Amino acid sequence: MTRIFDDPANFTDDMLVGFLDANARYVTGVPGGVVRATTTRPGKVAVVVGGGSGHYPAFCGIVGPGFADGAVVGNVFTSPSAADAASVGRGADGGAGVVFSTGNYAGDVMNFNQAVQRLAAEGIEARYVLVTDDVASAPATERSRRRGIAGDFTVFKVASAAAEEGYDLDGVVRVAEHANGRTRTLGVAFDGCTMPGAREPLFMVEPGRMGLGLGIHGEPGIADEALPRAADLARTLVNGVLAEQPDGAGTRVTAILNGLGRTKYEELFILWATVSRLLREAGLDVVEPEVGELVTSLDMAGCSLTLMWLDDELERLWSAPADTPAYRKGAGTVAGATGERRRASDATTAIAGERDPAIVPDRSERPADEAALRCAATALTALEAMAHAVGEAEEELGRLDAVAGDGDHGRGMVRGSAAAVQAARHTLDAGAGPGSLLIAAGDAWASKAGGTSGVLWGAAIAAMGRRVGDAGRPDEATVAAGVRDGYLSLISTGGAKPGDKTMLDALLPFTEWLSTAVAAGEPLATAWAEAAREAERAAAATASLRPQVGRARPLAERSLGTPDPGAVSMALCLRAVADVLGDGH
Ligand code: ADP
Ligand code: MG
Repeated sequence: MTRIFDDPANFTDDMLVGFLDANARYVTGVPGGVVRATTTRPGKVAVVVGGGSGHYPAFCGIVGPGFADGAVVGNVFTSPSAADAASVGRGADGGAGVVFSTGNYAGDVMNFNQAVQRLAAEGIEARYVLVTDDVASAPATERSRRRGIAGDFTVFKVASAAAEEGYDLDGVVRVAEHANGRTRTLGVAFDGCTMPGAREPLFMVEPGRMGLGLGIHGEPGIADEALPRAADLARTLVNGVLAEQPDGAGTRVTAILNGLGRTKYEELFILWATVSRLLREAGLDVVEPEVGELVTSLDMAGCSLTLMWLDDELERLWSAPADTPAYRKGAGTVAGATGERRRASDATTAIAGERDPAIVPDRSERPADEAALRCAATALTALEAMAHAVGEAEEELGRLDAVAGDGDHGRGMVRGSAAAVQAARHTLDAGAGPGSLLIAAGDAWASKAGGTSGVLWGAAIAAMGRRVGDAGRPDEATVAAGVRDGYLSLISTGGAKPGDKTMLDALLPFTEWLSTAVAAGEPLATAWAEAAREAERAAAATASLRPQVGRARPLAERSLGTPDPGAVSMALCLRAVADVLGDGH
């Protein structure tokens, strides 16, 4: 249970205010996250880590000499937006480029890849390394699909130490990928965590049972087992990880026995005593292990065992000193690590509302004509109706997402649609047409919602805006083509296929029905309403599908019988727009 908050919706931003204040000697806020309190040494590669919050000390707690140069801080369990990641990358860059690293989650992958492109367009070379250590989340033949959990820590540490030693961009990427290739984690959950302000935990474990193969976003384990005694639990974890020993592994390893947030250090030490003995009996030398909370999942009860098989290079980098708010290693300061202290004027607050400049079109642009303005007003009304509909359904969408995902879908949709409405109002006030309005709304949605659905919704709405344009009232065929462009942008951004159990499964039948009906000469309002019915039917039918992408994939079986939250919210939004069009707008 999370008990201390003012407004749960501002949990992350409010947390950052206190974190930055308490750790001012280490870190400074920038829009979208934090960077070190000192500038990056000229010529040093900047390592920027990140993901959603709720994992402290990951990720903002490990920013400092010897460790990360910056951390992008998303909302709880939600990928930060591309704008946030680019902002922190820009703030951390010392001229030698940026290496981003996150665990492997669809939302992070899309947003951080976009951030790499944004920085490239500004002349900052950036790269991106994914962590895939969770052995329970996909078979060994599909290692690249595995999630990143506590192995984030070993990979981030090694990459950061390499950058500190003066490795160039390629060198940091190489050693980070090498570390990831030699890192494996298996975890167990004893009980679920509760999102700030929520009444129910994301999942529950029966007393006396445990979930084997947990995720760190409140995803339950993939198998339910009886809770064993500590010695047997140690054996399960050690055997599970050793079964995944990488090719060419030597006999030296480092280990993390990680607490998830509500498991006592004392319990971890009891477990470690047997883990350590079993590792030695397996012929391994354990170098500088860590026992404690390094990557948590709010107040989840559980723990995980990570092993990284070392070679000389990895051992040196793992053992190198670090000095950060939550993690210190080695005595004294990190030699030559710091640049100059940032001036107050370099530091911008990371507080809500200032993360991204409001996206307002250039007022010097020619105002849109009368017909275009009326159409833009309809687009705003449609967005408002969507925001209202997802507001009403927030809890239900969260519940659907908690079945096999992380429970944040309702909140993400509310945040994204509200930001879209706000940006749309600005553009309408500035006299822009429907195309500009939708582009601004899409950009705002993506940057404020974060997560997988945020970046996808943002891309789709902006794509539609580009098709619709600002000249006059678009005809029916153009609107249908705009919807199709939105659909295609979802495919190109997210890489999913129809049938993968995503929002695409509601949007595809909608798009097809709309195009066909409009081509047959039906008025837009009628065609849209019929197509929305198709989307609702298709969204409900996703209950029988197994998720192939996204956070829900490792828990595919559990998801059977429950519709996809993204498909349900898509159908809701399309229905809300149908009602607006049906009202004669
Ligand atoms: P996150 O998964 O980052 O927590 P949300 O919970 O807001 O994000 O959204 C989850 C929804 O996103 C899923 O229900 C699914 O419809 C959609 N989704 C996930 N991955 C993809 C993808 N690759 N392409 C299209 N939609 C996706
Ligand atoms: Mg989710």
